[in-house]
Amino acid sequence: FPSHDSNRKATNWNVFVYADSALINDIMLSTIRQSIWFIISILAFTSFLAYVFSTLIARPLRRLATLSASKPAPHIVDELNQIDTWYDEATRLKVSIISSMLSTIKQVNLLDREASTDPLTGLFNRRGFTALAPVITQFTENAVMSLDLDHFKKINDVWGHDVGDKVLEMVSRVLKSICRDSDIIGRFGGEEFIILLPGTRVENARHIAERIRATIEAVREEGLPSVTISIGIVALSEAANQIPDAIKMTDLALYEAKDAGRNCVVTWQQAVNTPQRHAEPVRIP
Ligand code: GH3
Ligand code: MG
Ligand code: MG
Repeated sequence: FPSHDSNRKATNWNVFVYADSALINDIMLSTIRQSIWFIISILAFTSFLAYVFSTLIARPLRRLATLSASKPAPHIVDELNQIDTWYDEATRLKVSIISSMLSTIKQVNLLDREASTDPLTGLFNRRGFTALAPVITQFTENAVMSLDLDHFKKINDVWGHDVGDKVLEMVSRVLKSICRDSDIIGRFGGEEFIILLPGTRVENARHIAERIRATIEAVREEGLPSVTISIGIVALSEAANQIPDAIKMTDLALYEAKDAGRNCVVTWQQAVNTPQRHAEPVRIP
């Protein structure tokens, strides 16, 4: 074909290729085959790279998440420090987790151990609980639980005060075995316990409370009477993150649980929505 470009020289040659259709088909098929393998190898290589990078990005985050759920302690801070956070966002997250953990540890050390723990059960007493609880609310979802043994006065009257004390120790063992290390368990005098569950939605807290209730009901120990417990729960956010308000709200739920027949779990929402007292006990399946 003649060229319109004056700078190029046209040969004015026409080239015609003659071949049978089978040969043309073969050429086309082998071209398609080659390009498919090329595309597949590019895709495989890209997926491999994406996998390697996502693993590298997730590794420090996974470690940070695991350690941040542990009970604040100097060796946990050391382990946090050793995590290789190779990108800026992870490093900043690590620093903020370490600083919040350090402030918690400081707070705990500030508390006089004897003045903040209950000698019978080793749990936090009211003073220890109220000093520590506000520090551990950096999560968005936290739940607070009030627990009170049913008819405990009768147990003391029938079995004696010493057996009553053993029951309290058994209950604290059950609470420690069911709760996580990060939960804060307090004994608020007598047979009343309070638990702060950081990072726990109220629905999950209901299931944990139900496990506690069922476990205590099922305990059979020689020389101990069988006991039951009533539990009230509230989401800390419903109390505007104020622990004293949350405790008042769980107490209301607990009062409702007692009124509903004891040995049951009631949330604050259920308590305020109960139209009349002497309602059916609320049991979670
Ligand atoms: P309810 O089901 O309504 O909770 O009835 P209750 O009898 O458990 O409630 P009440 O608050 O009337 O009784 C609590 C009892 O707990 C009164 C007291 O004798 C007993 N108590 C308080 N502190 C201790 C303690 O340290 N050891 C023992 N053994 N008993 C205690
Ligand atoms: Mg009581
Ligand atoms: Mg009681």
